[in-house]
Amino acid sequence: MAMEHVTENQQLERATRIAHTALKSRFYKQKYAGQVKTDSMDAWRALPVLERKEILTHSYPHSSDMLTQPLEDAIVISTGGSSGMARYTTYTHAEWDAFVSCQSEAMRILGIGPSDRIANLFIAGHLWPSFLGLHDCIKRLGAVHLPISTNIAMEEVVSLCRLFEPTVMVSLPTFFVFLADMARRDGFSFPALSMINYAGEHLSRAATEHISSALGVKRIKAGGYTSADAGIMGYQCEHCAPGVYHVPTSFQFIELINFDEQRPAAVGEKAEVVVTNLSRSSTPIIRYRVGDVASWLAAPCACGDSNPLIQLAGRSGQDVKLGGGFISLDTFGDCIGAQGEPFSLNFQLEIADVGGQFTLDLAVETAGEVAQSRLDALEQALLAAIPELRVAREKDYLRSFSIRAVKLGSLPRSPITGKVARLLDQRVR
Ligand SMILES: [Zn+2]
Repeated sequence: MAMEHVTENQQLERATRIAHTALKSRFYKQKYAGQVKTDSMDAWRALPVLERKEILTHSYPHSSDMLTQPLEDAIVISTGGSSGMARYTTYTHAEWDAFVSCQSEAMRILGIGPSDRIANLFIAGHLWPSFLGLHDCIKRLGAVHLPISTNIAMEEVVSLCRLFEPTVMVSLPTFFVFLADMARRDGFSFPALSMINYAGEHLSRAATEHISSALGVKRIKAGGYTSADAGIMGYQCEHCAPGVYHVPTSFQFIELINFDEQRPAAVGEKAEVVVTNLSRSSTPIIRYRVGDVASWLAAPCACGDSNPLIQLAGRSGQDVKLGGGFISLDTFGDCIGAQGEPFSLNFQLEIADVGGQFTLDLAVETAGEVAQSRLDALEQALLAAIPELRVAREKDYLRSFSIRAVKLGSLPRSPITGKVARLLDQRVR
């Protein structure tokens, strides 16, 4: 029971085949000036990296420039664009199968198997792939699929989960926080539930504790380290600390590159993730600069898996720029979490610029009414935890700071993914 491991030479061979196929596309033919010399790692590293902007401009349906073959026997999926600009990509059905095979193996390694009843709590539709992808993963695991989705009313989701008693639930952190809020308010639980598997968003420590205590689940695991454009790039075993992932070497070729010095990173050195997908040749993703920072871990994993380990850095969630400093949104979550009931960990922070000063509006979902004194206490906790906020108030940069309690489930969710945007920074134009 392990993810296949291939050597770096084998990876280079496979990646080279993909790069040669890529020359059939208009985009790569131009990018590589018609040729690819990849007989060594040095030659491979001479290939220019692929930027996110290029994928956006040259992807289906706006363009067919990245396609190496006619579009047939394929699935079109959305890869993101919660901020208005939707992005899409195409997989042949065989490439899709390779992707779900890798993803399902990651779930198997976490101990999910045939006797599990898995509640699929993703939104279906809008070309969003999660619901369908999980369906295929569950089939491969031979487990029992409960295709409940979150397209339906939350009350129905809860009653179906209570009726069918899933052992595993798979969804987004936003959903699990909401479910925990409801469980705490209405006093229900899921006695058979042994694992929560999340994807799609960062899960803060405060939110983890909130979910774990309200739902009585100790095992809360990330489905993987994933990029929408390249697919799963890391999976966890029982020995992996948060932020540490095994690389699925037969599925992705991952390089860590120090771009300042144009060289591969040494073990332990933080550098940028560059990924080549080894199973996609219809829309090749070659040396894609993902935008994440990571380092190689030296020691082999205690689980015995030969696939190397990477440690992600700087994926602790979003940061807010305030008065010259960067504040982690998790700091807001920590302060809200410390207040306890009836505060949810689903919140939205909106920052706007008004005549050289800024305004801060924090909306927090709560189960029921909240006394003003509780909101005041939260404000004091935030001012104590975030010096930049105190300084901004003292120096009069902070025009207003309001904290509002809103009903559970009332913060706007993306209709496509179900995510709550935790930060609305109106200063960024
Ligand atoms: Zn391991």
